[in-house]
Amino acid sequence: MSAATATPALADLPLRPELVGEVPYGAPQLDVPICLNVNENPYPPSEQVVGEIAAAVADAARSLNRYPERDAIALRTDLARYLGHGLGPDQVWAANGSNEVMLHVLQAFGGPGRSVLSFAPTYSMYPEYARDTHTQWLTFPRRADFTIDPVRAVAAVEDQQPDVVFVTSPNNPTGTAVAMNTLEAICAAAPGVVVVDEAYFEFARTGTPSALELLPDHPRLAVSRTMSKAFAFAGGRLGYLAAAPAFVDALRIVRLPYHLSAVTQAVARVALAHAEEMLAHVDALRSGRDDLAVWLAGQGLEVAESDANFILFGRFPDRHAVWQALLDRGVLIRETGPDGWLRVSVGTPAEMDAFKHALTDVLQPASVAKDL
Ligand SMILES: *Cc1c(COP(=O)(O)O)cnc(C)c1O
Repeated sequence: MSAATATPALADLPLRPELVGEVPYGAPQLDVPICLNVNENPYPPSEQVVGEIAAAVADAARSLNRYPERDAIALRTDLARYLGHGLGPDQVWAANGSNEVMLHVLQAFGGPGRSVLSFAPTYSMYPEYARDTHTQWLTFPRRADFTIDPVRAVAAVEDQQPDVVFVTSPNNPTGTAVAMNTLEAICAAAPGVVVVDEAYFEFARTGTPSALELLPDHPRLAVSRTMSKAFAFAGGRLGYLAAAPAFVDALRIVRLPYHLSAVTQAVARVALAHAEEMLAHVDALRSGRDDLAVWLAGQGLEVAESDANFILFGRFPDRHAVWQALLDRGVLIRETGPDGWLRVSVGTPAEMDAFKHALTDVLQPASVAKDL
């Protein structure tokens, strides 16, 4: 075979220079009995919902020769109704996961010569959307307890003049909810657009206000949500945001035509029609989180206060060794966040028992000597 037809190695291809050496992002997808690494809702849909989804897919299949409804109006109407706050479909945008929604935001409002600012430590995907849209990625540190200092945050926004600000509340990987007055101060100071990523909002403690309340007063604010976490629909790939109609129009310019398949739209609408059932386990997961926080603290560990369905805990001189030792015991958690910390998702009571059992074993003095 000549060199010209040989299968090229990645290094032989004319990759964009900033992508050389990069690897595809993602948590390891390992076949392990207990998966507590990507903040999924551990409860699958009921057989009744499964049946309705199958019927909706069959119905959509009958017209798969046609392109789907490009603006997904029916789905956006359902999402607006679910969000409440008087929102209509022209104030809601939807895409294949909120990851795609955030990419649309940077495609529309970021780009060469522009910047996006966020508050670190935060979601590890944001710098990738920034890279992929040639938007400069800027971070400002959170306090030691992972809250955001409103005065210093405003000063950072005024100083850096970012075109886009991402604020994650509750934050991933720390679980920290951001105070409303901090969000308001950031919105007031930001020269460009602000996105509050509320991927975990449904898990926040009762009475935690949503940034949706700020929309009427802040026309350059968007609030993003996802069906991947509380809604138990990670495999369905549906994220969305609420904003002013003009903000949504900006995202419509950059989306790929027909980005939401007919199957995705149909299936998401069935899930939304069963919102109450899809969210039925949220209360149990919230109390599971609170119980787990108490238990971890009882083991003498540091625990970040969480309003999400996961907990960041530590600190370990060698966190990778702890992560690996748990994996060796069949429990997969996430090695993410600041050095020394690990993140565990809240699972079923049986999964939590398995995690506690494994961690107790790993943290035994004899085990530390052996494994770590
Ligand atoms: C999980 C997560 C999302 C949701 O991603 P999808 O693409 O909707 O599955 C968004 N933001 C944060 C901070 C997350 O942790």
